[in-house]
Amino acid sequence: MHELSLASEIVQMIESAAAREHFLRVAQLRLEVGALAGVETQALSFALTAMMPGTCLEGSEITIDEIPGQARCLHCAACVEVASHIEPCSNCGSFTLQATGGNRLRIVDLLVVND
Ligand SMILES: [Zn+2]
Repeated sequence: MHELSLASEIVQMIESAAAREHFLRVAQLRLEVGALAGVETQALSFALTAMMPGTCLEGSEITIDEIPGQARCLHCAACVEVASHIEPCSNCGSFTLQATGGNRLRIVDLLVVND
């Protein structure tokens, strides 16, 4: 399950940020997952929750926002919203779509506490 390795990357990234920026723990973590990122939000949330104890993320509140995928059609040049990589252009029906947004996972916000 690749959400497990993603979750572990996120935890490691935040742990090294904590060491570098001298914060003790995280109160809130907000992530954004694009519809085209290939990430199962529930699995990611489950994996993160499982990994939190013993890290600076212990007890933090995690929010995962799902954002729509965006693509540009190479056939008619329209910019369309898509829910998956196998959807046709809603304007012309062509499958020559190039993802332009909503194709990654990123940390949007990190609220840290120092006490
Ligand atoms: Zn099109």
